[in-house]
Amino acid sequence: MHRIQSLRRVAAWEYGLACAVSIRRMLTLHPQAMPLRPCLLAPRLAHAHRLALAGLALAAAAPLQAQTPDALAAAIASRADALNAKVVAWRRDLHEHPELSNREVRTAGVVADHLRKLGMEVQTGVAHTGVVGILRGGKPGPVVALRADMDALPVTEEVDLPFRSRVKTEYNGQAVGVMHACGHDAHTAILMGVAELLAGMKADIPGTVKFIFQPAEEGVPAGERGGAAMMIAEGVLESPKPDAIFGLHVFPFAVGAIQYRPEGLMASSDQLRIVVRGRQTHGAMPWAGIDPIVASAQVINALQTIVSRQVDLTKSPAIVTIGSIQGGVRNNIVPDSVVLLGTIRTFDQDMRTQIHERVKRAAEEAAGAVGASADVSIIQQTAVTYNDPALTARMVPSLERAAGADRVSLGGFTTTAEDFSYFQERVPGLFIFLGVAPPDANPATVAPNHSPRFFVDERALPVGVRALAGLALDFLHGGPMPAPMGARQ
Ligand SMILES: [Zn+2]
Ligand SMILES: [Zn+2]
Repeated sequence: MHRIQSLRRVAAWEYGLACAVSIRRMLTLHPQAMPLRPCLLAPRLAHAHRLALAGLALAAAAPLQAQTPDALAAAIASRADALNAKVVAWRRDLHEHPELSNREVRTAGVVADHLRKLGMEVQTGVAHTGVVGILRGGKPGPVVALRADMDALPVTEEVDLPFRSRVKTEYNGQAVGVMHACGHDAHTAILMGVAELLAGMKADIPGTVKFIFQPAEEGVPAGERGGAAMMIAEGVLESPKPDAIFGLHVFPFAVGAIQYRPEGLMASSDQLRIVVRGRQTHGAMPWAGIDPIVASAQVINALQTIVSRQVDLTKSPAIVTIGSIQGGVRNNIVPDSVVLLGTIRTFDQDMRTQIHERVKRAAEEAAGAVGASADVSIIQQTAVTYNDPALTARMVPSLERAAGADRVSLGGFTTTAEDFSYFQERVPGLFIFLGVAPPDANPATVAPNHSPRFFVDERALPVGVRALAGLALDFLHGGPMPAPMGARQ
């Protein structure tokens, strides 16, 4: 009985709130509209609108923790709707003014100004141009971090938009255009929107939200440091230390849909360099030297048996690619050495370690078998983007409330890499994908990220705002993770 009454109360509350949302939407779309006029014609509608206005008043006053998750999601949705025009405007401004990695000076300024206006504690210049905002809620609770990356790419935009990028610069000695061809403009605008949304709920937030605007996700210019690893080295995950971290990336699948995946989502990326050393001789007298070209052929074949023959591919995929072979200057000289360059991708830290050991062994022994030697160096570039399974399971309902249950699905592996993975090595994290392809896009031919024709359908932006705001608030309301998660080894 008691339960039925409280359920009824919740239903009435949600109904009032839904009406409030619809009136707000109407006022946003048609500011001159008179929302009460239809009520003169229909008493039942008038009652509905009185409820709606009561809902509006309650929405401003109701303490958040008294709300059900659905009511909280509805409150987030109405605020996201009200903010949407601003989010679109920020995204277009950022899109028109893209900046390369470690050069995000204007972007960082826009972000920092915004966070300061919202009354946050703001730190700038983190890992060169990174910005961190701290929003302390009015109630005690855990700490959650939200991350967006801010950098663009040396790509000349080919999308015909009024706000398309006309920026040009020099990159590695070449004249290039600059474009937000990976959608980081959308990520930054979405997180600015989430910052404003949550700042408006500050008094009722049980805990702290840390907003991390990160430079140089795409990689740093030669000789520089930057990105997530440098932000961490400069203390972004300390004082306060987040209990969980969330982030998203736009990809060209159905607009407004969300994909998630527990455990390995995006690959680790390691740079492989092998120098195969022989002894130079006349091409007509190979016996007088040691041929590193033939040795390299053996090394490459041996490397290809690692993924195909030596690791358990039922657990997760892996890739060993040789992308460059450099050796020799003319047809009748056996050179001294050959340099092979490649990349290694994995989705599991144990498999990554195992493959590194096997690459070293295969190269050294295959070269050794023909009398040559191999020096193997592996530079670890990006870790596995590893979604904590317990955190992922806990947060899927939040994603469903943000996008609609039928729009949230389990995604596949992505062999590209993300330096969000560095945060996840230290804090349980969840990284999700947000669809930005227009409904009429052909999945087989739609332009991928990094293409000069990469296109973001802006109808995804409010879904992104709802998703990150919902993840943060639901996490804070649920309290810290029950089991000590700690850093993943
Ligand atoms: Zn990218
Ligand atoms: Zn990206």
